[in-house]
Amino acid sequence: MKQMDASLPVFKGNTHAHTTNSDGRVSPEECMRQYKEAGYDFLALTDHWAVGEETQYRGMLVLPGIEYDFTYPTQVLHIVGLYPDAKLAAGMQRGMDHQTVIDHINQAGGVPIAAHPAWSLNTTEFLCSLRGVDIAEVYNTMSGEPFNGPRADAEAILDIAASNGKLFNLVAADDSHFYQGEQCVSYTMVQAEELSVPAILDALKKGRFYASQGPEFKSIEVKGDEVIVETSPVNRITVCSNRVWVKDRCVSGNGLTERIYKIQPGEKYIRFRITDGEGRIAWSNPIAL
Ligand SMILES: [Zn+2]
Ligand SMILES: [Zn+2]
Repeated sequence: MKQMDASLPVFKGNTHAHTTNSDGRVSPEECMRQYKEAGYDFLALTDHWAVGEETQYRGMLVLPGIEYDFTYPTQVLHIVGLYPDAKLAAGMQRGMDHQTVIDHINQAGGVPIAAHPAWSLNTTEFLCSLRGVDIAEVYNTMSGEPFNGPRADAEAILDIAASNGKLFNLVAADDSHFYQGEQCVSYTMVQAEELSVPAILDALKKGRFYASQGPEFKSIEVKGDEVIVETSPVNRITVCSNRVWVKDRCVSGNGLTERIYKIQPGEKYIRFRITDGEGRIAWSNPIAL
């Protein structure tokens, strides 16, 4: 079983950005310009309760997107909705129940993403109770310092959820608002048949992607009781799973490009985290064993 397939092209995208259509500081045009110049293949404009239309910006695909927010006594829930068509987002209003909105996104053929679970103070019980949400932001640039506090990284929460049976696939996104350094940092590499809205949404639903800030996953393959991962040159290859301790979980070195990991007794899922020499990280999706 292969998680990445070298026969398919890979497209770089940011699934979460704000503009002056809600509380972002730049116009949609300026947001698109900055991501295009940084080499992105696709972008979603996801303003709060304001859907962004599908468009092309100098060859960069812009997906229809929106962000819905719900406020509860001890946490908030923000759901990014990527739609096949902006018209399909119609009908959702503030005050609606979060599950109604999630169901609406799925019924429209869209993709709901649990945004910044750590920033939102989400409990794993709450995340596990969401029906029809299979993707979460493992890293949200805007939720980290110096733009915000230290809760950009949701890995620990999502590992606890995974250990309790809910495997979220992992995207990384900027959630750009200020355009003061948080933009064009964390992204998702999607293996799709082509660069189109249906193909990108299909690949997201099928889990054919990984999250990154720089390092690349070339191949991830399960063969018997081993998992073989191939990467761009990195300084660290770490395996995360539901086991609290395994020997040699983290392997460090210079210019590592491969690791063969023997699956340990009791492991129900594993995922890889790789770190390059500049401290930039990439996160694979979890693999159910
Ligand atoms: Zn949000
Ligand atoms: Zn946002």
